[in-house]
Amino acid sequence: MTVAEETFQPSVPVCWCCGGEFDDRDLVRLGAHPEVGVCVGCAKYLQRRAAEREDELRPSRGARARAVVRRVRGRVVGRGWHELPVVGRVLRRIDKYLP
Ligand SMILES: [Zn+2]
Repeated sequence: MTVAEETFQPSVPVCWCCGGEFDDRDLVRLGAHPEVGVCVGCAKYLQRRAAEREDELRPSRGARARAVVRRVRGRVVGRGWHELPVVGRVLRRIDKYLP
């Protein structure tokens, strides 16, 4: 580790995933690397990616059903429906309960 790496401290805590600036209390820190923090939104995204990877490694009926949900989510997001004023709010609320 170089001196520059040891002393590097961003003035405002940033998410190492999306690059957004957050309060330090709004970041989730990695256990072995506490210098790395991700925002709650990115932590949820990473959890979904991890579950997707787990499903790919262990195929099952449930995994296939979750893959269908992910494909539908991808199409909805691709079309921008999640950003529509009324329908988008409903879709985002439903998404909270989906895998
Ligand atoms: Zn983030």
